Amino acid sequence: MATDTRSRALAYIREGRAVIRAASYGGTAPLRVAAVAYGHTGRHEISLRDGEWSCTCPATGICPHIAAIGLVCGRPDLAARTPNPDTPRTNRTEEETP
Ligand SMILES: [Zn+2]
Repeated sequence: MATDTRSRALAYIREGRAVIRAASYGGTAPLRVAAVAYGHTGRHEISLRDGEWSCTCPATGICPHIAAIGLVCGRPDLAARTPNPDTPRTNRTEEETP
């Protein structure tokens, strides 16, 4: 069974268990996202608001649900191949304009 964040995120997408309900974009980066992931332990709500990702699952940092939604909506860096469990749930980019 895949255990790293990226593999689990890809599994969510492959199995159709990561669903974006609404998203708005600034350029290619998502500004606001509302999504749902159907995990083995239940349903989790993922959102991006004011540059902060959140998920209703008990994990801290970037969980597989956020990573899956990131892959779908233009933030593949959230599911980097070498995941850092301390990656903050922020959406700040260098391209951000004041
Ligand atoms: Zn989660």
